[in-house]
Amino acid sequence: MKKHQPPAQFSSFSFSSAILSSIADAGFKKPTDVQCKAIPAIMSGKDVLARATTGSGKTAAFVLPLLDNLSNQGLYERTHVARQFNPAERAQHNAVQVLVLVPTRELTIQIAGIFNQFSKNIQPRISCQSVYGGVKINPQMMALRSGTDVLIATPGRLLDLIENNAIHFNQLKTLVIDEVDRLMKGDFEEEIKKISKLLPNKRQNLMFTATFPDSIRSIVRQVLTDPVVINIDSAIETSELDQHVVTVNHNRKNDLLAYLLNENDWQQVLIFCSAKKTCDNLVIKLKKRSIEAVAMHGNKEQSARMKALQDFKSGKTRILIATDVAARGIDIEHLPCVINFDLPRSPNDYIHRIGRTARAGSPGQAISLIAHHEYQHFKVIENRNDIRLEREQVAGFEADEIAPPPPVKQKKKPKTNNKKSKKRKLAAKQKNKAKRTSAEDTGSVYAGKEQNHDEQKTVNPQVWGKRSESNTD
Ligand code: AMP
Repeated sequence: MKKHQPPAQFSSFSFSSAILSSIADAGFKKPTDVQCKAIPAIMSGKDVLARATTGSGKTAAFVLPLLDNLSNQGLYERTHVARQFNPAERAQHNAVQVLVLVPTRELTIQIAGIFNQFSKNIQPRISCQSVYGGVKINPQMMALRSGTDVLIATPGRLLDLIENNAIHFNQLKTLVIDEVDRLMKGDFEEEIKKISKLLPNKRQNLMFTATFPDSIRSIVRQVLTDPVVINIDSAIETSELDQHVVTVNHNRKNDLLAYLLNENDWQQVLIFCSAKKTCDNLVIKLKKRSIEAVAMHGNKEQSARMKALQDFKSGKTRILIATDVAARGIDIEHLPCVINFDLPRSPNDYIHRIGRTARAGSPGQAISLIAHHEYQHFKVIENRNDIRLEREQVAGFEADEIAPPPPVKQKKKPKTNNKKSKKRKLAAKQKNKAKRTSAEDTGSVYAGKEQNHDEQKTVNPQVWGKRSESNTD
């Protein structure tokens, strides 16, 4: 079989000059691995299934060839035919040509930004819009009236727009599903199935994911036709990533976190918690120790979520504390450190979380703080992701051999039985229900669910900085 020889330059892909100039403006010198493999396949109209490392440039791997296909300009340049623009090459009323489905609101906006960045020199302009829940639908319906060449959407809001006749798919050429492992299971799976049924059968399908669990293999195969399968070997770009796991008593986690934040001169830190409430509590607890942090999770208003992320991306905020809503796809340039304050339920989400650092060749650290009840679960994460890490300890915060007793719970106030309080509770419940926008807020998936509480003894922990020779298994 002929071995795939990656081209050393973007110019080898015969992109149009408009795209090549935007690639140069972005400062991209060479295509990454996934780009080398995906770009020619997408340009030739094939279906693609790509498992690409987090931070490996997978967004540009589909954005660049799709823009080239949409503009047709490369084709004219290659064949030296004078450009005769046909208005039918652009989306007509309420139509869409490329549909990109993603699990979170933040990702829709981020990916729209990348389409806009690389299409800026293309004439006539290629239009791009993002739609997501948690905000009013009317402005999105208005914006879609004249059609959009590229639409980036969360599944729930897209279905709402379809119900309102705000969008049709007569002109659809390509469906992209990013973060497939998240979108092809749980609450999203049904929504994706509904959407797929409304799309024309003859279309190009592109699927991208950093992790590819067995559970989604058959359903993915049903959607794709004779796909080019791209498998970038390791699930994590390990070369620049320095992973640590630190054992600590559960009642000292806050102190240890504050200590690490004070002792290390990380320019920015992204801290993950599994529950929305933990994020908010942690902001308060750090503030008491004079450390400023901002929380971001699914219970926050959309504008607050966007601001939190924007301020973090621009470097205005040093510490962002988030649920898994920030775990997928979010690209923060040169983020030096990710801390798992508690562990994600799913071993896949561990990969997504730590993939926020050590991106595009930058170095990064990922530190997981694990208390006794998380020892067993971390072993599961290691086994599933085929990694082995030494258990470390930080001097002054060493975990005891046996877990300290849980905090004594405050006695709850006796329940009042009056009508007013019942009404208030019902109103709050309804408000919360309305706020929930299906599974868009990935943080909610874990909230309130107990993690694995199997208790295990610490296995050869070592004190931070003084590495022991011991093995952990
Ligand atoms: P992604 O995996 O799509 O989230 O991309 C991760 C980061 O890599 C982003 O900051 C991109 O701007 C950057 N990137 C993508 N492709 C390249 C490339 N060919 N050369 C340098 N950086 C890139």
